[in-house]
Amino acid sequence: KKTYGLADALKKLGVKDHNGGTSTGSNWMEGTGKISSVSPVDGKEIASVGVTTAEDYEKTIQTAEEAFKVWSNMPAPARGEIVRQFGNRLRELKDPLGRLVSYEMGKSLQEGWGEVQEMIDICDFGVGLSRQLYGLTIKSERPDHSMQEQWHPLGITAIISAFNFPVAVWSWNTALAWVCGNVTVWKPSEKAPLTGVACQNIIAEVLKENDMPEGISCLVNGDYKVGEMMTKDSRVPLVSATGSIRMGKIVGQEVASRLGKSILELGGNNAMIISKEADLKMTLIGAVFGAVGTAGQRCTSTRRLIIHEDIYDELIDKMKNAYAQLSIGNPLDEKNHVGPVIDQDSVNNYLKAIEKAKAEGGKVLVEGGVLEGEGYESGCYVKPAIIEAENHFEIVQEETFAPILYVMKYSGDVENAIALQNGVKQGLSSAIMTNNMQEAHRYLSSRGSDCGIANVNIGTSGAEIGGAFGGEKETGGGRESGSDAWKAYMRRQTNTLNYGNSLPLAQGIKFDI
Ligand code: NAD
Repeated sequence: KKTYGLADALKKLGVKDHNGGTSTGSNWMEGTGKISSVSPVDGKEIASVGVTTAEDYEKTIQTAEEAFKVWSNMPAPARGEIVRQFGNRLRELKDPLGRLVSYEMGKSLQEGWGEVQEMIDICDFGVGLSRQLYGLTIKSERPDHSMQEQWHPLGITAIISAFNFPVAVWSWNTALAWVCGNVTVWKPSEKAPLTGVACQNIIAEVLKENDMPEGISCLVNGDYKVGEMMTKDSRVPLVSATGSIRMGKIVGQEVASRLGKSILELGGNNAMIISKEADLKMTLIGAVFGAVGTAGQRCTSTRRLIIHEDIYDELIDKMKNAYAQLSIGNPLDEKNHVGPVIDQDSVNNYLKAIEKAKAEGGKVLVEGGVLEGEGYESGCYVKPAIIEAENHFEIVQEETFAPILYVMKYSGDVENAIALQNGVKQGLSSAIMTNNMQEAHRYLSSRGSDCGIANVNIGTSGAEIGGAFGGEKETGGGRESGSDAWKAYMRRQTNTLNYGNSLPLAQGIKFDI
């Protein structure tokens, strides 16, 4: 496979010196103002995009509505064929797109490529799904009647995404929304707009080659104000929003106020329980990658370790040792484990969180701090920190989107650890490390983890596309990706058909005229 230098990658993806802001396929509208995309890797501006105006938004929605009439009438497997071609194009462009993700967002190159792999995987899933959009048949209580469920497309699906998975989250939504017969309008994070431009260019080319109408895939750019255009718009039946709990509470209420549907994928506060019967070698890899991978900027990043008192000191020593080996630096250099956080605001939140944890009585076990000097000019490189803390601390109850790990002890039974784990408002990902079968099963039972994702002998971070992804409580309750998550992108219709010569009413009601 060909590998690209950074400059070639940007050129290949058509993002360098890009002036467009809004796109209805291959048609770009310039928009107003500019969002400058500055890489946290070196602090340099990569390129800028225009901001979507109200008029551009209007044109986009009208074009999407027109496209929906054609797209939703195509057989689902024919839509799957377009998704298949899109997946193949991503295979060809895995290197440059992964590189752009890494450079614009700051995650390691391995993780940038991994994100594109996730896009390819969900396209494959979507292709298969396009022949499996099954409904049930149900026995009718009336003679000579049949009943069935059908699933129909909804219309325009709006996608609002976060900066940390700038391309995968879009594809989780689009691959499903498209095979289900919907058209999509995407607002990427204003912190990573160029990966959005790149993805839109890729799908637009595939659509054009297949003579498909403009508007099946649309892109709008801007901050929350552009997001609001979609959340307030009753022509948009479904809004899928990924980001902070603060955002989700606003978006959820806005969409609900017009009785629209929403899929909310919000913040987590993910814990790993480490039993005294855990394999500490596996635990170490899972805990360290979970806490420092993507510089602690995954929704599934490990925020808390809940460790049995009998093995606490031994594991903490191992963690300190592992943290001392971490190399922090340019994520495009494969020898580095930890790249930068996204921007200066994020650095400030990280510093404030450490101060707050100390003020609440936390004990710093591995010092944090901002790195300076050669290679760290962007000011966004921070040291992963470990703080001994208590679960009830205000700061521990919040998600700080940075590499800070809170550690705490539990004693006695695993139920005590589960109570600590569940004792937060969020409910995304969770894990237990144990070789004790009873503990493992209890953890997965209804009185175990209260999260959308519960793992045994695997860290909290990352998930496969085959399962439904999402979380409970303030994480929002939405599910995306695999399993039957597709049902959220369709409307269910119950059909009853009478093939007899009389009209019996349900519940035996008599009505003669
Ligand atoms: P953010 O909430 O600041 O922004 C996310 C998106 O929402 C952006 O596109 C933003 O412009 C938009 N937005 C913000 N306010 C809005 C409003 N009022 N109306 C419409 N749109 C609005 O989040 P972020 O900093 O980009 O991402 C980090 C957060 O995302 C973390 O909390 C992380 O846990 C969460 N996240 C969750 C998942 C998941 O699947 N559960 C996945 C990735 C990230």
